[in-house]
Amino acid sequence: MIKLINVSKEYDNGVKALSNINLEINKGEFVFLVGSSGAGKSTLSKLILKEEEVTEGKIYLNDLDVTKVPNRRIPFIRRNVGMVFQDFRLLPNRTVYENVAFAMEIVGSNPKDIRRRVPMILSIVNLSSKASCFPDQLSGGEQQRVSIARSIINNPPVLIADEPTGNLDPETARDIMRALMDINGRGTTIIMATHAREIVNDMKKRVIALENGKIIRDEQKGGYELEVPSTKEYN
Ligand code: ADP
Repeated sequence: MIKLINVSKEYDNGVKALSNINLEINKGEFVFLVGSSGAGKSTLSKLILKEEEVTEGKIYLNDLDVTKVPNRRIPFIRRNVGMVFQDFRLLPNRTVYENVAFAMEIVGSNPKDIRRRVPMILSIVNLSSKASCFPDQLSGGEQQRVSIARSIINNPPVLIADEPTGNLDPETARDIMRALMDINGRGTTIIMATHAREIVNDMKKRVIALENGKIIRDEQKGGYELEVPSTKEYN
């Protein structure tokens, strides 16, 4: 589904953000991307979305070679890869319903489909009762759920979430994880970059750890850090 072959990224200022990344993510997987700030997590997302160009290597989204897609076809990639951010990025002057509907309007969906689909997606993220509220009338967790609804409204096969629980308290973060798990259970592949140690440790999903632009660990059912056997076990 997503395949990176020998991908490197050097920014114009000479910073090598990613070196020789080889990675394959299958349809329906849930993958955590961990690593300290500056490790290269956001760069990886930006390359998949073609917000930045690779310096070397290839990125495939199914059979599509993202690195070869001309600029005029970038909207096609964006329709196939939903994006959720730490800071929600909602339109403040539009209601919850309108924020989500807008994402369908910009890809040219017909009004009948919009009227049918928006309420359905709002119900998946448990926001049906807030449809006519404006973002500033919602809690942080509710705003993030609107942002998740917006990111999946066009039914993208892949969702990238960059620190989606970063601004939220632990209880609210768990609600967000439940919503993401529900969406993953419906078949969407999810890549989530995070520093939330407890969430990663609780979920026991695949963990890809980056350090200085390199993959240092790729583990199924992994934890936030590599588990080192305690010395007590040997005594
Ligand atoms: P993370 O998301 O893990 O914090 P980033 O991908 O944002 O890491 O950054 C990786 C490295 O690339 C860092 O050294 C960062 O300073 C650098 N970097 C990120 N974006 C740019 C840019 N637009 N121009 C130059 N350097 C950048």
